[in-house]
Amino acid sequence: MTMSHRHLNPRSGLVIDTHELGRRVGAMKEIQRIAEAPDGIGTDVIGVPTGSSVEFELRLESVVEGVLVTGAAEVTLTGQCGRCLEPISFDEEIDLQELYLYPDKEPDDEEASRLEDDLLDLEPLLRDTVVLDLPYTPLCRPDCAGLCPDCGANLNADPDHAHDDRIDPRWAGLSGWAADPDDEDEAAMARNKE
Ligand SMILES: [Zn+2]
Ligand SMILES: [Zn+2]
Repeated sequence: MTMSHRHLNPRSGLVIDTHELGRRVGAMKEIQRIAEAPDGIGTDVIGVPTGSSVEFELRLESVVEGVLVTGAAEVTLTGQCGRCLEPISFDEEIDLQELYLYPDKEPDDEEASRLEDDLLDLEPLLRDTVVLDLPYTPLCRPDCAGLCPDCGANLNADPDHAHDDRIDPRWAGLSGWAADPDDEDEAAMARNKE
């Protein structure tokens, strides 16, 4: 993906035309819009579904170096609970702030966001901000009880779940033995002899 030098599509919901704002310092414009989420925002466990609605409420402000964008975006996050593996989906509002330098401003920072003509691209800002905001281990609820380590039952649905004989005593010695990977072959041989 080449984010930095592509030509922006002014019809994209994630591209804002700042022409009307002008370059007079202090000029301001408020923008509300709904755009479609681009693909690939997220991690393996949680992210923004491609094409889902992203609701922007932004304020554009003309400053000396460029256009300052502040505001928020509301996104839908879907994924999987890190404990019980149930699907989860919720809306999240993320705060956005970015200074887009005018194209003719001196590049004292190569990484700085920049206007292309009058256009600014919200996609990298959205992508970076959402990913920083994502929980490392998303949970279906803060006190999710997770899964039974023995049988995989969902403990949220069955809080009194218990196993009386956690492990058949006849197998207890063997299972401890097999837990050491070096002994696995011997354990297998012992089983085969029985
Ligand atoms: Zn859960
Ligand atoms: Zn169980």
